[in-house]
Amino acid sequence: RAKAAGGNRFELADPEADARAITRHGLTTALPTALDRGEFFIEYQPLVHLGDGSVRGAEALVRWLHPQHGVLSPDRFIPLAEHTGLIVPLGRWVLEQSVRQARAWRDANGGEELGPLRINVNLSPCQLTHPGLVQDTVEILERTGVTPDALCLEVTESALIGADDDLLKPLRRLAEMGVDIALDDFGTGYSNLANLRRLPVSVLKLDRSFTQSMQQFPADPVDLKIVEGIVSLAHSLDLAVTVEGVETGAQAEQLRILGCDTAQGWYYARPGPPERLHDLALVDATG
Ligand code: C2E
Ligand code: MG
Ligand code: MG
Ligand code: MG
Repeated sequence: RAKAAGGNRFELADPEADARAITRHGLTTALPTALDRGEFFIEYQPLVHLGDGSVRGAEALVRWLHPQHGVLSPDRFIPLAEHTGLIVPLGRWVLEQSVRQARAWRDANGGEELGPLRINVNLSPCQLTHPGLVQDTVEILERTGVTPDALCLEVTESALIGADDDLLKPLRRLAEMGVDIALDDFGTGYSNLANLRRLPVSVLKLDRSFTQSMQQFPADPVDLKIVEGIVSLAHSLDLAVTVEGVETGAQAEQLRILGCDTAQGWYYARPGPPERLHDLALVDATG
């Protein structure tokens, strides 16, 4: 099929773009009821301590089991959920499920045997501006009997660039309660490093692009210097550094030498069902 594009030029219609548009429309229609229908589920990916290899926690990653399209990744539907406002109830659901799961991991091991398994949950910028965030979080923690220090909320660097005090207020309150705040995808947002002091964050999650540049051996010396600089700045501000997207042992080793604290990636485990994390942590604890 060809479309007239003015004058004598003809442009081929982009069938993939058409398919994307149709799907986007279809997804937007199906999205509002998906939560009530129970079509969302959460996978968990372990966070591993680079020093000793122990599992310290997990990041909750939401998926949509769509009746026609199968399992959809969050990149496909989170933007739509943000656009339609569903992100607020969806985000609250993810938070509640994940915190319950953290409680279940603890209970399954008679309380403490696993050590403190922490849970990381992603927050959309839309949730930050929603007035119920602090209250909802407090209620979820109280209902589940999980302490605030077992929870880490991840906010992308780009969501906080240029954030004014009103936007930071709920994060500050959560941080004061003992909830950790992580700056996700750090290094992609061109934020002013000095700005970090103003933010109530306690963890930097280095973006996957840094990990990717550690793929070659020896890695690009400039990239090494950049990561080294970020890590030393973070540590001097009392921030822990987590790295995303670790796919090889060589990357893990390089990032460990550079002083990163925690890692996450396919090298350790892909995101998976909650039982898997439990098994990984248990294997880890018993040798
Ligand atoms: P993110 O928070 O930066 O999560 C990390 C992403 O990297 C996840 O993609 C994860 O599956 C993927 N990943 C982990 N290890 C590796 C690796 O070794 N190599 C590669 N190539 N990728 C790896 P996923 O699950 O598709 O999630 C994409 C994004 O969707 C997340 O990025 C996060 O921003 C967003 N997201 C996921 N769940 C939620 C949620 O519950 N609420 C909100 N607001 N956003 C969410
Ligand atoms: Mg994240
Ligand atoms: Mg991330
Ligand atoms: Mg990322």
